[in-house]
Amino acid sequence: MEPLGRNRLDPRVLAVIERLAGAGHEAWLVGGAVRDTLLGRPFHEYDLATSARAEVVAGLFPKVVATGLQHGTVTVVTGRLPVEVTTYRGAGAYAGGQPREVESVGTIEEDLAHRDLTVNALAWDPLRERLLDPFGGAEDLRCRRIRGVGDPLARFEEDPLRTMRAVRFASTLGFVLERKTRRAIPPLLGRFAQVAVERIRHELEKILRGDRPRYGIELLRRTGLLPHVLPELLDGFGLRQNRWHRYDVYHHTLRTVDATPAILPVRLAALLHDIDKPRSAAPSAKAPGEHTFYNHENTGAAHAKAILLRLRFPHRICDEVALLVREHQFVYSDEWSDGAVRRMMARVGKENLDHLLAVREADIRGRGFYVEEGLANAHALERRVRLLREKALALTVRDLAIGGREVMEALGEGPSPRIGEAMEWLLGQVLEEPSRNDPEQLRALLATWKSS
Ligand code: ATP
Ligand code: MG
Repeated sequence: MEPLGRNRLDPRVLAVIERLAGAGHEAWLVGGAVRDTLLGRPFHEYDLATSARAEVVAGLFPKVVATGLQHGTVTVVTGRLPVEVTTYRGAGAYAGGQPREVESVGTIEEDLAHRDLTVNALAWDPLRERLLDPFGGAEDLRCRRIRGVGDPLARFEEDPLRTMRAVRFASTLGFVLERKTRRAIPPLLGRFAQVAVERIRHELEKILRGDRPRYGIELLRRTGLLPHVLPELLDGFGLRQNRWHRYDVYHHTLRTVDATPAILPVRLAALLHDIDKPRSAAPSAKAPGEHTFYNHENTGAAHAKAILLRLRFPHRICDEVALLVREHQFVYSDEWSDGAVRRMMARVGKENLDHLLAVREADIRGRGFYVEEGLANAHALERRVRLLREKALALTVRDLAIGGREVMEALGEGPSPRIGEAMEWLLGQVLEEPSRNDPEQLRALLATWKSS
């Protein structure tokens, strides 16, 4: 494990700790920064726990944001770096699914005793170079295991989301879930429905952005959490596919997710790309024992969007994922004309193309059979897309060499839906033959459109 040292700490955070200590308060670095420093992993935020009340903290620094005054949290902004400073929280501070108002300021030991996992219950005082580790968190980091603080069942009862957090940290850190902690999850499942859906989404997102999403989702299933997070995935469990697939729909899905780059909409699209295979499965007429999944990409796109809206993902993400699911199922062949490739590019949109190709490639890797052939085919399409894209082609009506006003002039008509139709038709002509994207030629084409 990596050593902690005050010289390895950002000097701005050290300055915040010194200011608090100078005013007679205790201040400890806690949470992810301590855990990830010991693991030698990058981290993204600093959390301090202090004996000072939030109003007092706010008075000590020139620039603060009252992030959650009622929960005892103040963000101190020092040279652009935000540092979250939270007053010691004791029993019940997180109960009921949300951090609650805390009356009395406890001790750092009480604060640590009510954190979720031992690896998150470490506190470090860089001024005295002292690590506080009352629950064996450092040992658990060394042994790469996730364990609830003290009695895991009691911790999970204080906040059922902690069950999913345990799975999340096991998945992102690549740790095992210690037995007693794992066994404390099923008794809490009945209360999981009380957890705010945004908090569930946050944990799911962290699992998906991590290095081992397959392990994380599989742990959710084995602990019984998956039906409370994404029950639809289980419909594919044990569903046999066809000669192209080594795995059932569920396992194929997880392998596909693992094969994608860690980009949220791409990971979500991989997770949901076959979500309607169970609904659309029909025995193959030609091959006994095999299944066909007619139209699953189209119904699946709508289904995926509904699932993501339920989980309160931003609309922008829901829409992109729906598009990627809808388009994931194409069969490319070298016989496609350039026009066909351009029409596909236009339908998907320039901005989504790389994401679609990433989903497609992962889907092929995830099927376990005919992978080399599939990848060769996918790469052939990728090369053609890249070539055509370099030519900066027109893919939307906005890219046409004449605008709406000129189209109206050429047709001798005022504004009406017909103008949009004419432009769509022109785009079709240009996708077929890009050299037509020139004002003279487009006007000539409009004349033939008008007379037809
Ligand atoms: P990361 O930010 O990388 O996800 P983190 O450990 O900083 O990891 P946060 O969710 O930011 O996780 O929380 C900061 C700290 O607050 C945690 O390390 C943990 O000690 C504590 N904590 C957060 N949420 C809970 C909770 N629901 N129950 C108990 N303790 C919690
Ligand atoms: Mg954090």
